[in-house]
Amino acid sequence: MAKHQFQTEANQILNLMIHSLYSNKEIFIRELISNASDALDKLNMLVLTDDAYKGIAFSPRIDIVVDKETKTLTIKDSGIGMNEEDLMNNLGTIAKSGTKAFLENLTGDQKKDSNLIGQFGVGFYACFMVAHKVEVTTKKAGEDKAYLWTSKGDGEFDIEDASMEGHGTQIVMYLNEDDEEFLDSYRIENIIKKYSNHIPFPIFMDKEKYIPAKKDDEGNEIEPSKNEIENVQINRANALWTISKSEIKDEEYKDFYSTIAHSSEEPLAWMHNKAEGAIEYTTLFYIPSKAPMDLYRVDYQTGIKLYINRVFITDDEKELMPTYMRFLRGVIDSKDLPLNVSREILQSNAVMAKIRNASVKKVLSELAKIAKNDKEKYSTFFKEFGNVLKEGLYSDYGNREKILELMKFNTLESNEMVMFEDFLKNVDEEKKEIYYITGKTSLSMLKNSPALERFKSRNIDVLILNEEVDTIIFPMITEYKEYKFVHVSDAKFEESEEEKKAEEETSKTFEGLTKELKDILGDNVKSVETTFDLVDSPVKLKEDKEDPAYMMAKMMKQMGQ
Ligand code: ADP
Ligand code: MG
Repeated sequence: MAKHQFQTEANQILNLMIHSLYSNKEIFIRELISNASDALDKLNMLVLTDDAYKGIAFSPRIDIVVDKETKTLTIKDSGIGMNEEDLMNNLGTIAKSGTKAFLENLTGDQKKDSNLIGQFGVGFYACFMVAHKVEVTTKKAGEDKAYLWTSKGDGEFDIEDASMEGHGTQIVMYLNEDDEEFLDSYRIENIIKKYSNHIPFPIFMDKEKYIPAKKDDEGNEIEPSKNEIENVQINRANALWTISKSEIKDEEYKDFYSTIAHSSEEPLAWMHNKAEGAIEYTTLFYIPSKAPMDLYRVDYQTGIKLYINRVFITDDEKELMPTYMRFLRGVIDSKDLPLNVSREILQSNAVMAKIRNASVKKVLSELAKIAKNDKEKYSTFFKEFGNVLKEGLYSDYGNREKILELMKFNTLESNEMVMFEDFLKNVDEEKKEIYYITGKTSLSMLKNSPALERFKSRNIDVLILNEEVDTIIFPMITEYKEYKFVHVSDAKFEESEEEKKAEEETSKTFEGLTKELKDILGDNVKSVETTFDLVDSPVKLKEDKEDPAYMMAKMMKQMGQ
C-alpha cells in the first residue's frame, strides 16, 4: 500500500467540498454519473475505432447500489477504467491550469455555491460532500491489473493492488451520518431522473416492486401480496438531441442542460436544429443565463461536445465553434464524419467546416429572433455575453453585418443601450455616416469629451464605445451596407455662410492670443488655431493625421501596445 498526498489545489477543492458546500449536495450524483458516462464514451469509441480493443466484451452500463447496512452508496460503470498512473493523475491532482486562479477569486458566498464548483468541472471531489471515506476500485480496459484507491478526504490517498472482474470503475461512498438521505432509493432515482435522464447509457438500480396478492376465481387469497426486488433501468438513456423537437418538453431540455453544463441554473435559451441534405447533422445549443467564471481566460473550458452518429468524440476542441461563441453549451452530432477522426483532421475537415459555418449562421439568426421577440431576454444575453459576441466583428469578417445587427450600443443621445438597428434610424439619410468615439474610459467621461460638442449642438447621435475591445475593433470597421463608419475626429460638417464668416472674424480677433500660445508651447504643438468645433470647452488637442508620428501611435495602439 502506498500513501500519497493530494496536490495543493486538489486539497483546497476537497476542503471546500467538505467544509463549505452544504446546499444542493445532491449534485455529487450528477458529477459521478457524468464521469461514468465519459468513461463509457471513451471505451465506446475505442472499441469502434481501435483494433486493439475489438476483442473486448463491452456492454455499457452504470449500476447504482444502496446498502443500508454498511451505509454505503456505490456507483459502478463498465467504462474505460483507470490504471495506477491514471489514478495518480486524475484522482489526486487537478489538471486544469485555471483552477488555482479560480479558487483564489472565489468570494465568501461563492465558496458556498456548489453550482460554481460543478461548473468548473472538478466533479469527482464532490463525493466528499457526503462521504467520510471513498473507495475507488478500477481496472483499465485491455490491462490486467486492478487497483483500489482510498481516501478520507484528509489530504492523503492510498493506492493498492486489487482484483476486479472485467473492466471499469466502482466508487463506494461511506456516507456521513447527516447525509443518510442518499440511502433512500427513491431519492436517488429522482436525482438521477433530474440530472442524468438523457445520458446515452442505461443506469440500473434495485427497486422494490409491489406484487399484489394472488386470488382464485372465488376471490380467496392463495398468495399474499409482497414486495419483490427487481433490478431495473431508471433513466431514459436516449440522446435527447436525436429526438424530434415536438416530442421534447421544456423540462427535458432544461434537465439535459443541467447534465451537460454541470449547472443547476436554468438556461437562458436553447436552439435545436436538425439539418438534412448534403450533410446530415443535428445541433442542440444552449445559452447559459450567467457567464461562467472563465469566459475571458485563454484556457476557458469549451462547452460543445462533438458526437459522430451518437458516439462521443470530444469536448475539448476549441475549433468546433468560433471563440466568439464560446458561451454556448451543447452538442453537435453528425453521421457524415469519419469515426476515427483525429484533431488535425477535424480542423481541416470540409464537412466539419460546413457544419460549423451553418451552425454559426443558425445561432446568429436565432439570436436575432430573440432580440426581436424578447427584448428583456436579449438584454440579459447581451449583458452577459455581448462583449464576447463583439469579438466576432473582427474575427468573422463574413458574418460582420449580422453580428453588427446583434450589437447594442451606448450612444450620445440615449441613456441606455440601443440596438444598432434603432441607432441607424436616426442616421442622416443622405450622408449615411455612423459617427463613433472610442476610448478606454468611463462612459460619462467619454460622453463629455470635447470632441462631441459639435455633435451635441447639431443633435447628431454618436456611438460611444468605451470598452477595451472597442478601441481595437472599431478602427477596423469601415462600413455597414451603404453606411460608413466615421470617427468623430474625421467627421466634416458643412458650415453655413454665417458660420464661415464668424470663424474668420474670430480667428482675426484671437490672432494675438494664438500666436502667443504657439510661442509658449513652442515645438510641443504644430500650430494653434481657433475652432468652431467646440461648444462648451475652451480648448482641445487636435491630432495631425498627416503626421507619421501620429499614425505610428495609432497603429501601436491598435496592436494593443
Ligand atoms: P472532469 O470530469 O471534469 O475531468 P472530474 O474531477 O470529474 O473532472 O474527474 C477527474 C478525472 O478522473 C476524469 O477526467 C477522468 O479521467 C477520471 N475519472 C473520474 N471518474 C472516472 C470513471 N468512473 N472512470 C474512468 N475515469 C474516471
Ligand atoms: Mg467530471
